[in-house]
Amino acid sequence: MTCFLLDGETALDAGSLTDALPLAAQRRIRRVVLTHAHLDHAASLPFLLENLYGRSAPLEVLAPVPVLSALKRHIFNDAVWPDFTRLPSRAKPTLAYRPIPAGRPFRAGGLTLVALPVDHLVPAFGYCISKPGRAVLFSGDTKPTAKLWEHARRVRDLRAIFLEVSFSDSQAAVARASCHLTPRLLPGELAKAPAGVPVYLYHMKPPALPRIRREVAALEEPRLRLLESERSFRF
Ligand SMILES: [Zn+2]
Ligand SMILES: [Zn+2]
Repeated sequence: MTCFLLDGETALDAGSLTDALPLAAQRRIRRVVLTHAHLDHAASLPFLLENLYGRSAPLEVLAPVPVLSALKRHIFNDAVWPDFTRLPSRAKPTLAYRPIPAGRPFRAGGLTLVALPVDHLVPAFGYCISKPGRAVLFSGDTKPTAKLWEHARRVRDLRAIFLEVSFSDSQAAVARASCHLTPRLLPGELAKAPAGVPVYLYHMKPPALPRIRREVAALEEPRLRLLESERSFRF
């Protein structure tokens, strides 16, 4: 249930924002940037909008067009959940979609982001997120990928990489079928990443976590560490 609160007002993905944050902190969120439309990344968006209903400024949801199209078509379609771009009114909506072009920098509050296409079952994007003099990289959901790393190698002052690993090596078939990484695939991705940057692994499927932990330890790669829920970082 992936979500990262980047600063008080911008979130990356919304898998469990309403579970993780008290109402007051939810109300400070002005925008959610999405990697893709899968439910483990978007599940709390309907409830966040419900909690923000009637706020003066809409919640902006930012992503490349294919991701926004999936939300419109499959979630906020007045069948599964209301179309909050018309509620309470078209003039004062609770939700505003903001399509962003992949590969080009865009601003979100005090942050500069670039959406980078990755390789997953559905249109999906990693993000490079920067402030002057520092940047971090999020892979989103992906199998072995290239463009993300091409971009990462050109970023100066990259402080951290957040990289998905979803399944254990014993589940390589399901990982392949669902376009995800397992620990055995990590050295190949690290070889494409800029050297010396710490890599925080996330998106572990809960039943696979004990095995993933052992398999990652066996890689003896000092850059790799498993991300834990509710951790905060300052870069
Ligand atoms: Zn996914
Ligand atoms: Zn996912």
